[in-house]
Amino acid sequence: MSAVIIDGKQMAQDIRAELAEQIKKLDYIPGLAVILVGNDEASLIYDRNKKKAAESVGINCTIYHLPEETSQEEVLEKIRTLNNDKNTHGIIVQMPLPSHLNSEEIINAVSYTKDVDGFGVYNIGLLHSNLQGAIIAATPQGVLYVLEKSLGDLSGLNAVIIGRSQIVGRPLASLLINKSCTVTVAHSKTKNLKNITSRADIVVAACGVAEMVKKDWIKPGAMVIDVGINRREGKLCGDVDFDEVKEVAGYITPVPGGVGPMTVAMLMKNTYIASLNQLKKA
Ligand code: NDP
Repeated sequence: MSAVIIDGKQMAQDIRAELAEQIKKLDYIPGLAVILVGNDEASLIYDRNKKKAAESVGINCTIYHLPEETSQEEVLEKIRTLNNDKNTHGIIVQMPLPSHLNSEEIINAVSYTKDVDGFGVYNIGLLHSNLQGAIIAATPQGVLYVLEKSLGDLSGLNAVIIGRSQIVGRPLASLLINKSCTVTVAHSKTKNLKNITSRADIVVAACGVAEMVKKDWIKPGAMVIDVGINRREGKLCGDVDFDEVKEVAGYITPVPGGVGPMTVAMLMKNTYIASLNQLKKA
């Protein structure tokens, strides 16, 4: 048996095409602001990609590239200005920030209505409480989209998430609980992980350990989502040993071309929806 390989690139393209159509009908241009402090190489690439993706759907994206030595107060002042700017509907603060800055204070300074990364405590609280109106972090939202598109109703399924980070594991756990999955969240201290994953209908690997998940960790026919982005011998790979696991799984996402493109598409969707909600409140 060989797994259905999920084409995340195509799914993301479809979402973006639909979004572009919806944005075309607006009588304003949604605005996304990206605050980048310092010169982290990966962040520069991510932000350039976000700008390209935004512009491809008709969102106006401005990157505010601030010098490495920018103070906490200066970053907060920039956020206050953007919070009050009617043409800015979404604000992203690119992580990681230089170590002299207090990331938590900065993330939570972004107005919850413009927090399109969904990292602020207000949006996290809404999601964890299963209340309406949360802006949900893009990666977990992309994972949920792929799961529902492939499996339909997720209710009653056993899901194991490997990783408990604020940006992937925890919000995804809430999303799947809200969809009536039975959820186990594993982390670096989890014992007998292979025994746990091998009973799951859904395994999401988000631990950042190259090709850790092996064939004998997976129940035949299970759905395997690989969030990991790692480099091994110069090549990009995920947290799942793709070549092995695809022989036993029912569905699998590749790296690259799986969850990555979905994340960017969901970020654009969040910006569009945030702009609609702000207009309603104005
Ligand atoms: P973090 O480093 O913040 O969290 C990693 C999590 O994995 C932690 O909870 C950690 O446990 C757990 N973990 C680490 N090693 C093991 C292990 N051997 N066994 C079980 N659990 C383990 O990472 P992120 O959540 O930010 O990202 C995870 C991966 O996803 C990375 O490769 C990242 O690059 C990728 N990523 C991809 C995105 C995309 O768009 N495709 C977006 C975001 C991230 P503990 O809490 O105990 O330390």
